[in-house]
Formats: sequence, structure tokens, C-alpha cells
Amino acid sequence: MEKLLSRIKELGLKITVPRRQILNVLNESNKPLTISEIVNKCGGADFTTVFRTVKLFSSKGLLQSTNFNDKQLRYSLIKKDNHPHHILCKNCGKIEELEICIIDKVRKLTDYRIVDHSMEFIGICPECKK
Ligand SMILES: [Zn+2]
Ligand SMILES: [Zn+2]
Repeated sequence: MEKLLSRIKELGLKITVPRRQILNVLNESNKPLTISEIVNKCGGADFTTVFRTVKLFSSKGLLQSTNFNDKQLRYSLIKKDNHPHHILCKNCGKIEELEICIIDKVRKLTDYRIVDHSMEFIGICPECKK
């Protein structure tokens, strides 16, 4: 958490109570969260404030958004050298982190400087498959 706060300062952003709360919630979550989930976990924080803060953090490269094509973007913190990808069970809604990414392969394959990418999976989890 201290590291996160110093990154915020490095970015020239003021540390306000809602910003700290939102970072804390995202930091403690092991899955990406929707804006409403962040609002709930912040205990009565204002939706607009959370929305604006999340957009701000995203634009500064602190957050990554995950889109499972269900009209709800979910957000998670980008840790240094490590950004999460996820798999969603469309039956029970469980979300798990994936520890793979093919960005290096794509970089090699295309010689592009990659500025953004997304890679999400939707499936039926082992429990629901039974
Ligand atoms: Zn499931
Ligand atoms: Zn990736």
C-alpha cells in the first residue's frame, strides 16, 4: 500500500481520502471489480467520485480494465511488471486470475511497441462443469 501511495505522489496526484480508500479496496481484492462493487466496498462512497477516480487512475496507467462483454468494465491494479488477465465462469460468476500473457510473443512476432492489449476468457468452471 505504501508503494501505491508513493506511485500516486510520483504521478503528481494528491492523496485524498476517497483515492486512498479506492486504492485500498483494489489492492485487497483478488479479482477485478466493477465501479458499483468498489462503491459498496468503500462503504458509502459517492458513485461519481469513485467513477471519476477510477477513470483518472486508469488514464495514469494505474488500473487495467477487464471486459467480459457483459457491459460492465471491471478494474484491477497494474502491479509493476505484472498485469493480470482473468477467466470468468459464466455460470457462477467466479473470476480467477491467469498467470499467462502473450504480449512478449506478440511483440516479437510483429515488432510493434505494444501500448495496450486485452485478453479475457469466459468459460464454465470445473465445479459448474460437473
Ligand atoms: Zn462456475
Ligand atoms: Zn497481458
